[in-house]
Amino acid sequence: MKYSICTLFPQLVTPWTEEGLLGRAVEKELISFDVYNLRDFSGNKHNKVDDTPYGGGAGMVIRVDVAARAIEAVKADLGEPDEIILLSPAGEPLTQAMAEELATKDHLCFICGRYEGFDARVEQLVTREVSIGDYVLMGGEVAALTIVEATARLRTEVIGSEESHQQDSFSSGMLDYPEYTRPLTFEGMTVPEVLTSGNHGKVDAWRKEMAVERTKERRPDLLEGATLVSDKETSITKNPNKKNGNKKSD
Ligand code: SAM
Repeated sequence: MKYSICTLFPQLVTPWTEEGLLGRAVEKELISFDVYNLRDFSGNKHNKVDDTPYGGGAGMVIRVDVAARAIEAVKADLGEPDEIILLSPAGEPLTQAMAEELATKDHLCFICGRYEGFDARVEQLVTREVSIGDYVLMGGEVAALTIVEATARLRTEVIGSEESHQQDSFSSGMLDYPEYTRPLTFEGMTVPEVLTSGNHGKVDAWRKEMAVERTKERRPDLLEGATLVSDKETSITKNPNKKNGNKKSD
């Protein structure tokens, strides 16, 4: 899996790719990052990439020719990307389903804006526009890295095991069940008994029940698309008064 990232701040992006699971995957050459500085494509000796907006108004706009030259450089160095993604608040909202689709690709190229964003003609140079949520960031770097994180962890070669993400929130259309570890009691809060029972069947059933309960309480909108695999789970969704198992002891 190749990621190429076009940004005005390579120094913000590179450290992220050097640590944790991403860093390890890079070391093992399972994934690669190529970070392009948009200033290298300014086409002028002052490395100026932006200009004032036609029609007036506040802020500066990044020029289309700068983005075009950066994209051409990515293509020349690494071949045609499977997707060229413009990060933009006006883009298609990022979802787990989109991350799953993007994770099947071999090369994702990201175009990160700053200031007032790019000249709108950049939209013609990309294959899609993606937003990571209904809020405005200062730049596209965090948004690009969000997509990197969401997609790289779906690749078995990066994460090591497919199972570890199949249970994740949203993968089944529901939120994940609650997890616990030592100590068994902390400041009066105990771990649900079923988890220490050694009965795997009961543990599985409890986890499914909790996933449905949490989703119903916190994100009922997700349940419409959820896969309910047993009568028990179906009946849980119809009982809005049941509390979850995270209890405080006396
Ligand atoms: N004037 C733009 C607007 O209101 O839509 C905002 C520009 S923002 C300050 C600068 C850059 O941050 C954008 O070009 C984009 O690359 C990135 N950005 C900001 N919010 C984003 C979001 N929610 N999702 C993805 N990228 C975002």
